This record gives sequence, C-alpha cells and structure tokens, in this order.
Amino acid sequence: MIKAKSSVSTQRAKKSNPGASGKRGSARSAYSKDEIREIFRRFSVQRPEPKGELEHTNAFTLLVAVALSAQATDVGVNKATRALFAVVDTPEKMLELGEEGLISYIKTIGLYRNKAKNVIAMSRKLIDEFGGAVPKTREELVSLPGVGRKTANVVMSMAFGEATIAVDTHIFRIANRTGLAPGKTPDQVEAKLEKIIPPDYLFHAHHWLILHGRYVCKARKPDCPACVIADICKAAEKTSEMPAPLVPLT
Ligand code: SF4
Repeated sequence: MIKAKSSVSTQRAKKSNPGASGKRGSARSAYSKDEIREIFRRFSVQRPEPKGELEHTNAFTLLVAVALSAQATDVGVNKATRALFAVVDTPEKMLELGEEGLISYIKTIGLYRNKAKNVIAMSRKLIDEFGGAVPKTREELVSLPGVGRKTANVVMSMAFGEATIAVDTHIFRIANRTGLAPGKTPDQVEAKLEKIIPPDYLFHAHHWLILHGRYVCKARKPDCPACVIADICKAAEKTSEMPAPLVPLT
C-alpha cells in the first residue's frame, strides 16, 4: 500500500517536471536528440534572425544596458538608456557624467543606486585596466564590478559573436518547465543547454529561448495554442497538442 502510494507521487513529480529523475541538477533532458533538433529548427524558421531587445550603440553601451537590466524589463531599461546613450557612449564620458548624473537618467530602474555605483566603478576599471575597451573574455568581463556570468555571456554573444547561453529568468523557466534542460541553478541549465543544443543552432539559441519565454511560454500562463513546438513539448502545464502554424515573424 505504502509502496503504491510512493510510486504514484513519484509519477506526479515526474509529470510536474518531466526532466526530473532524482536530483534536478543531474536530470537529463526529457527530449531525444531528434526532438531537440526539431525544436530549434522550428525556432529558426519562426525567427531566422533573432535579436536581443536591449537598445545599445556599441559594446560599452551594451554592457551598461545588460548590467542595468537585472531584475528590470528591457522596455524599462530602454526608456531610461535612450537619452543616456545619446550623450554617453564611452567609459570616459560615463566618468565625466558621474554617479549622481547617471542616477538622474536611470532612477526609474529598480536598484538604480547600486547599479549606478557599479557602472561608474566598471567604467573606471575599463579605463584603468583595459584601455577603455570592453574585454572579450568571460574571465575579464566577470572581473568588472556588477558584471556576472549572465551579463558576460550576453556581451560575448551580442558584441563579439560568441555562441553562449545567457540563462535569464525566461530560459531558466522554460528549461525546467518543459524538461528540456532541467537544473537547480542557472549555471546547471547553461551547461546542459550548451551540451544538448545542436552546434549549428547554438549561436541564436539564447535569443530564441528568451523570446519564446517572453511572448509564448510565459511565466503565469503559457500560450500553448500559439506555440510552434506544442506537439513536441512535454510540460505538465501544456494546454495544446497542436503546433501553431510555422510562419516567420517580422
Ligand atoms: S506548449 Fe506551452 S508549455 Fe510547452 S513550450 Fe509551448 S507554450 Fe510552453
């Protein structure tokens, strides 16, 4: 009796997280190689040239925008940085502007005081140690104040064309909800996604997943009838078995 009960609850746990099999960190993807390739093939048809939505004018403004976007929306960051980047697009100009000057542009963004402090310290370090240029390696990027692995990955991908996966809240949710790459931490999800995504799809994968999470596989209520991978998806929350028509988005 007890045995049967525990087996039912194990099955329920697996249904709520199809990738779950023991520790989430070591759980495998719930999808076969062919299914994973098909998922990314469809994303590639839907969005042939996916782009990040944070506005920037060069590697430095991208770095600043990504650093400001922690726990904030891209729309909110863009509203604040549009005016800022029109006058400040180098670390030197950022230092001239100073912390209080920067705050006057970004005070609509959450945690703006701390972020302003970091951006000023980051600009100073860029000038002192990197000749005013944004460094290209992850190791150097994460040495900058306020720059974590996610920010470094976004900059490496968008500014320097490296195939990286920057695991944000959307990617973390999709990876676990669908069982594509279950993991307890963003680092675990990142490592798993890098391992399972076919190399030819890896470069655009993080944008595809972010945009899929932002507009379709949303946090509160996934829009499964609008989802191009609905027939493949193994999420317990799925409400449609029919894939949405696969048309390129403009
Ligand atoms: S079918 Fe639903 S739950 Fe699955 S990926 Fe699509 S939107 Fe998300």
